[in-house]
Amino acid sequence: MKAAVLREIKAPLTIEELSLAAPGPDEVRVRVVSSGLCHSDYHSISGDFPVPMPAVLGHEAAGVVEAVGSDVTEFKKGDEVVTCVSQYCGHCRECLDGHNNVCGNKPTNRPAEQPARITNGSEVFTQYAGLGAFAEEMLIHRTGLTKIPEGMPLEKAGLLGCAVLTGVGAALNGAQVRPGSTVVVVGCGGVGLNVIQGAKLCGAARIIAVDVNERKFDLARVFGATDCVKGGPDAVAEVRELTGGGADYAFEVIGLTQTQEQALGMLRRLGTLMIVGMAPAGSQFKVPGVMMMALQLQIRGSLMGSVPFQIAIPEYAQLYLDGKLKLDEMISQNIRLEDINDGYAKMMAGDVARSVIVFDS
Ligand SMILES: [Zn+2]
Ligand SMILES: [Zn+2]
Repeated sequence: MKAAVLREIKAPLTIEELSLAAPGPDEVRVRVVSSGLCHSDYHSISGDFPVPMPAVLGHEAAGVVEAVGSDVTEFKKGDEVVTCVSQYCGHCRECLDGHNNVCGNKPTNRPAEQPARITNGSEVFTQYAGLGAFAEEMLIHRTGLTKIPEGMPLEKAGLLGCAVLTGVGAALNGAQVRPGSTVVVVGCGGVGLNVIQGAKLCGAARIIAVDVNERKFDLARVFGATDCVKGGPDAVAEVRELTGGGADYAFEVIGLTQTQEQALGMLRRLGTLMIVGMAPAGSQFKVPGVMMMALQLQIRGSLMGSVPFQIAIPEYAQLYLDGKLKLDEMISQNIRLEDINDGYAKMMAGDVARSVIVFDS
């Protein structure tokens, strides 16, 4: 199979011919139809979140089941599926408590007694988050995928596996945004747009989009933003003025110390800061302790939509099919696997919301 490979940080991915092992008892082989370019993979390209190299990145895919392992009964050849990084063990406290998205015991790696999942004969390749979606095929643990409703177009469905799940889920399930409330979303990339539409689905009265790139505001409005504010040091004061004292919820969807601190400053009393963006490993942001106490603020994190993806993804797919969730508008361009480096260059320049690789069938 053809795959895009990371061999060196900050260097272009290379297109190589690799092989997948046969499915182990708990594994599923998926033919990839579409695969979105998410910012999280870029953290590994830039070296902010290093992965052992060579590696196959990518984690936002939709495809068709090609083969299943001997113990897999919940999927069969031909099933249309979306993949997710939230693989889980099923027996830890978090899994049992309905939060398998934060399982600390993920079965992402193959058991040591089995041969590696991805090789080229002489080298073994890291499989990003147990997935490796920048490839024509994936071999993944049975807990890393879910079926989607009939009629859901596979060229678009991959986005449900990360950007939509993470953004919409952070508003719906993480913050549980109250109808009539005021929401500010700092960062209007693929996930940020989905926080905006999640807040809208929740019935937020006012949704303020903040981004340094004003070219993103048109799309933010399409997804439900009622106001747009240019990011930067003045954004805090501007949001406080627009909202008459601060927002009920502030979502930080970039992963920068500076914007995390700014988002906290945009809250009104009793407000909630939701940390959704992926900050570089080891980064820290400052919290004024007395303000937390005196204003009764909350800070919460949200990972992969704060919910089991096996429930959320089919629901969000149905919302799309019912015309209640936007997906088409988010896809700026469909590209070939060979164009992946150009796709990332465009993302980093802020020119696209999402580029999606569509494979030939
Ligand atoms: Zn992602
Ligand atoms: Zn678990």
